[in-house]
Amino acid sequence: MKHITKKNLLLIFLTILCLICLFLLRFTGKQEAPFIQLGNFRIPSTARSGVISGSLSLLSFLLIFTDYKKGFRIGIVINCISVGNLLYGIIKAHSLVSLPGIVTSTLSFIILITFYSFYSRLAESNLTDFITGQGNRRKYVKELKEHIEAKRSFTLACVELDDFKHIIDLYGISAGDYLLNKAAEKLTSILDKKDILFRITGSTFAIIFEPGESPEERLKNVISAENIVIPADNAKNTEASCILSLSAGIVYSHPPYNFTRTASSILRDAETALATTRNMTEHKICIYNESMENAELKQREAEFLIKESLENNYFYLVYQPQFTMQEKKLRGFETLIRCRKPDGSTVNPSEFIPTAEKSNLIMKIDDYVLHSAMKEFKSVIENSNRELIISVNISAKNIGCRDFADRIKKIVEEVDFPPECLELEITEYSFAESRETTIANINTLKEMGIKIALDDFGTGYTSIAQLMKLPISLLKIDKSLIDDIETNESMRHMIDSVIYMGHIMNCQVISEGVENDKQLSLLKDNKCDFIQGFVWGRPLNFADAELLTQQHEEY
Ligand code: C2E
Ligand code: CA
Ligand code: CA
Repeated sequence: MKHITKKNLLLIFLTILCLICLFLLRFTGKQEAPFIQLGNFRIPSTARSGVISGSLSLLSFLLIFTDYKKGFRIGIVINCISVGNLLYGIIKAHSLVSLPGIVTSTLSFIILITFYSFYSRLAESNLTDFITGQGNRRKYVKELKEHIEAKRSFTLACVELDDFKHIIDLYGISAGDYLLNKAAEKLTSILDKKDILFRITGSTFAIIFEPGESPEERLKNVISAENIVIPADNAKNTEASCILSLSAGIVYSHPPYNFTRTASSILRDAETALATTRNMTEHKICIYNESMENAELKQREAEFLIKESLENNYFYLVYQPQFTMQEKKLRGFETLIRCRKPDGSTVNPSEFIPTAEKSNLIMKIDDYVLHSAMKEFKSVIENSNRELIISVNISAKNIGCRDFADRIKKIVEEVDFPPECLELEITEYSFAESRETTIANINTLKEMGIKIALDDFGTGYTSIAQLMKLPISLLKIDKSLIDDIETNESMRHMIDSVIYMGHIMNCQVISEGVENDKQLSLLKDNKCDFIQGFVWGRPLNFADAELLTQQHEEY
């Protein structure tokens, strides 16, 4: 049996009281005696029916306060019966003795209707988002619960406005409201009659689609980027132009549902699908599947490990030597991060750097590596009689930040490290993500004397024409190209051309991942400047790297 709530119990109790009143009213009508004797009191029967009618009105109000929808319906029915009863009495007895009762009941009707419309307006405004006029999160939960309870099929889409925070930072909150309304307008245009749109948090909308034309196809029509002009009134008194683009995560939900399905668990799935779109550049729609859950779980675990490692010093650095090709003289070291967990096991960077790059944790890692490497090598460089280069990997996300060059400058000054001994390894992706800022940062860093190397060269898609314009000083040929140098003749020619091209660009060239003498001799023929690889040196801990530096001093 369905559980009876306290509210329903109270409704039943009040309804029974109303029915008793109705019965008493009916009974009063049949009384012939003008008075009723109650102890020493004589109560006129007209006064008694007035009291009962008044009680009935009072009970009707209590009904509407208990549950404005059900209470209103019960109240109206009770009052109708009461009025009917009184009218019947008037007609039958040809007497207007029940007229006060009719007036009381009419008043009850008016008050019931007034309270009902007040409550329904209040309930509606509680469920409405005041910026877009669409449903809010409360309404979303209510509607979805109803869908789940009624075991209805539906599709939930979670839609997000891209770069919203950035737009608010630039143009202010009113501009944000303007864009939210534009986005709501676009989304409303694809809705069918019964579909419902909600704004559930800052820049996130949810849509419940009823079964019908594919929601995915409909969303495709509105999510692509569109240039929007924000009027001066909404954008700090100057007309502003910005891009309105949307991403969407979709969940198809069909009964029978898994018993754990709730409004928030379905929304979480849609958010997981939405999170997957963050790596996409266009057509940013993803349909939820369970493997996404695993990917997200892994991402969260890795993020947790990174935060823990930063707090508890699980990270440490190793240094892989780089040598000159011709004389095998030590050029310097590439700094590589490692993580040692409390159980003694080590985690390779390939397992946590991609995770860190998806969040802002990569900035913290890069800062940690820069700081630690410079601090460790500062005295080694001071005690050395020649230049030693310390190379540090910098993520594309980091070098694309406006304040990157300033941050590096601050760290270099803080540690008091010679900037000409510092080299930053970046990849082509740095130029793809935010080209202008990256180039501006590189130019500032070069003015300070810091060197810039282009890592993983040969794995990206930058055209030669674009490459020639990049302000770099060292090209690092990727291991995947070196792996093929012995067996693949065309790769040999390719590497030869890359080295040649690097020299034309006024860059030096280093080959990475060199593992054997055959590769070494071919690279020597191709006039490669430097070598880094297991053939001449694996990554070393700091003490061994220092020792190697001292050994090379003695030459
Ligand atoms: P990467 O920058 O291309 O680093 C070179 C990788 O190749 C290193 O792996 C290195 O140990 C490995 N390697 C070098 N020579 C040889 C060789 O002869 N044979 C083989 N099989 N491997 C060789 P590692 O240390 O696992 O680093 C992997 C990637 O993780 C790096 O690729 C880099 O993208 C990232 N990474 C490592 N340390 C850092 C760091 O401190 N900051 C950032 N942002 N990324 C880092
Ligand atoms: Ca590197
Ligand atoms: Ca590399």
